[in-house]
Amino acid sequence: MRLLLVEDDTMIGESVLDLLRAEAYAVDWVKDGEMADTALRTGSYDLVLLDLGLPRKNGLEVLRDLRTRRDRVPVLIATARDSVRQRIEGLDAGADDYVLKPYDLDELLARIRALLRRASGRAEPIYEHKGVSINPATREVSVGSQAVVLSAREWAVLEPLIARPGMVLSRTQLEEKLYSWRNEVSSNAVEVYIHGLRKKLGADVIQNVRGVGYMVPRA
Ligand code: CA
Repeated sequence: MRLLLVEDDTMIGESVLDLLRAEAYAVDWVKDGEMADTALRTGSYDLVLLDLGLPRKNGLEVLRDLRTRRDRVPVLIATARDSVRQRIEGLDAGADDYVLKPYDLDELLARIRALLRRASGRAEPIYEHKGVSINPATREVSVGSQAVVLSAREWAVLEPLIARPGMVLSRTQLEEKLYSWRNEVSSNAVEVYIHGLRKKLGADVIQNVRGVGYMVPRA
């Protein structure tokens, strides 16, 4: 999944970036409101983690403009613990949820997972299909009674597919989930990870829709 991190504090930004990348999210990081605007107009994201106190354009304005453009990307706002007013304003401006600063990192990840799940129209946390069971929260994957270990990159390819069973994602869309601005994209990377996933999970789980892309069947 591809996330936009909007955070002007370098130390906080770096620690959140490390955390999210360790979870195999593709993350782009911008440090002011104008850059956030540009990134949101040009990029395609599954979720935005938006700090509200930002230079050049504050987070609330970024959020209001985003919703005025009818962009429905899930937005998680970050607000100070003592600022109830800011939370209310943020939610009323179109944020989907908030998280308090300083972050509890486990809570931050759980809220991100919950929003991604909701955005995909899925309320149930575990995907199951023909004996394959996948839990995005714990990264536990099993085939029958056998536990399966996926690499971070395999996970990054699988997660957006199981988030929307029945929906086809193109190779380009999957590449976007794998890489952020700083990474190079090798041309056959997605195929390589799909091949690895099929070997581990069985050929049925990820279906190739010829000329269009890949999908996992509805559970
Ligand atoms: Ca700030």
